[in-house]
Amino acid sequence: MFNKNNLQHILHDLQPYQATLVAVSKTKPAALIKEAYDFGYKIFGENYAQELAEKYTQLPKDIEWHFIGHLQSNKVKLIAPFVHLIHGVDSFDLLKEINKQGKKNNRVVNCLLQIYIAQEETKFGLSFEEGKQILSSPEIKSLENVSIIGLMGMTSLTDNKNQIQKEFRSLNLFFCELKSLYSKFKILSMGMTSDYKIALAEGSTMVRIGSAIFGERN
Ligand SMILES: *Cc1c(COP(=O)(O)O)cnc(C)c1O
Repeated sequence: MFNKNNLQHILHDLQPYQATLVAVSKTKPAALIKEAYDFGYKIFGENYAQELAEKYTQLPKDIEWHFIGHLQSNKVKLIAPFVHLIHGVDSFDLLKEINKQGKKNNRVVNCLLQIYIAQEETKFGLSFEEGKQILSSPEIKSLENVSIIGLMGMTSLTDNKNQIQKEFRSLNLFFCELKSLYSKFKILSMGMTSDYKIALAEGSTMVRIGSAIFGERN
């Protein structure tokens, strides 16, 4: 079910922060995305490359598609021709592959570095140090078909609001530090259905929200 009231509420919440909503449509049928599109929304996020590529072919071409999941190098080619922003870049090798596919498609692919801020050990992402290393490496300048325009992070799976706030705050501090060094930095992607209000208060410029808009996933 597409919940247009929730979509409107969320957009209203984002307004004072001038933040952007990525409506996360993963696992949901193209017909449901089309409902949201017909309602006037055009920015969607997916976390499987194959699924995203299929939906791209089925849906209107003016949709802005975001890739929000963990991206395997061998899947980059499926989305490189059209993806608007890849949120979860967590290695230099992946950047090199995105650059290669970007070149093939004669375009510059926008990317965010995924930074690890949660307490769990299972989440993907770079440490602050690894993020800095990638950005300051001499090799990065040769990747002309990649543009790193910000950071993405996910908090621990916890109900503890203080913990969530602390994690978002640490990422925002890091983001601000990098923004002063890299003029291209402008996007801080943090916040999902359960924690987007905290994320906004802590400096998020882009939230990724699925279940509040399209219902729970199986
Ligand atoms: C699924 C997903 C979301 C959206 O989660 P909801 O809780 O449904 O809002 C956001 N970010 C990432 C990386 C996801 O995989």
